[in-house]
Amino acid sequence: MKDTPSSCCQICGAEKKTTATAGYQACATCRVIISNIKNHPQTIHKLWAKLQDQPVQLPLNHRREHDKIELPDVLDGKRYQTIDRERNKWYLSISEVEGKPVEVFASTAFDRDHELQSRISNLTTITRLISLMLRHIFLNETLTLEKCLKQIKRSSRQKNDLPDMLFGVLNRYSDIPVDDIKQNIKRPA
Ligand SMILES: [Zn+2]
Repeated sequence: MKDTPSSCCQICGAEKKTTATAGYQACATCRVIISNIKNHPQTIHKLWAKLQDQPVQLPLNHRREHDKIELPDVLDGKRYQTIDRERNKWYLSISEVEGKPVEVFASTAFDRDHELQSRISNLTTITRLISLMLRHIFLNETLTLEKCLKQIKRSSRQKNDLPDMLFGVLNRYSDIPVDDIKQNIKRPA
């Protein structure tokens, strides 16, 4: 028997009778899959994670913000005491949600030294950005340039310190102007 293109499923390639479905000439098996993906996406996600031992991977910008876990008001945490090479004592605090790190804070004696504002602002930038990354990794919070910019801007303590300069440069790449970040208003096109 001779095969014709119309008897070949455009999705799986099987030589079967096909019907137009979701823009494809699809065989009966693929039509069931299409229908389930369209009508039962949550079930697909759940079963895929279970049967394939990994989640269905979505491109980053297709992940929905509301998929993230809400940060509780009170977080569990651990505080670690360390000493740096200049013999300063540090406290590194890690906030946890279900045993995963989601925020870091660092403090040391030079917090109270007013001549070291720039050191503190650099330190704040590091911990704010690490916290943002941790929430992205463990809580599925969407990571955007605007969120990074907001954290960098808030880390600045005075004009032309490192976070202020970084903000000035990186903000050129943002579609959302500085003053609108807080209100999350888009600039008119
Ligand atoms: Zn098929």
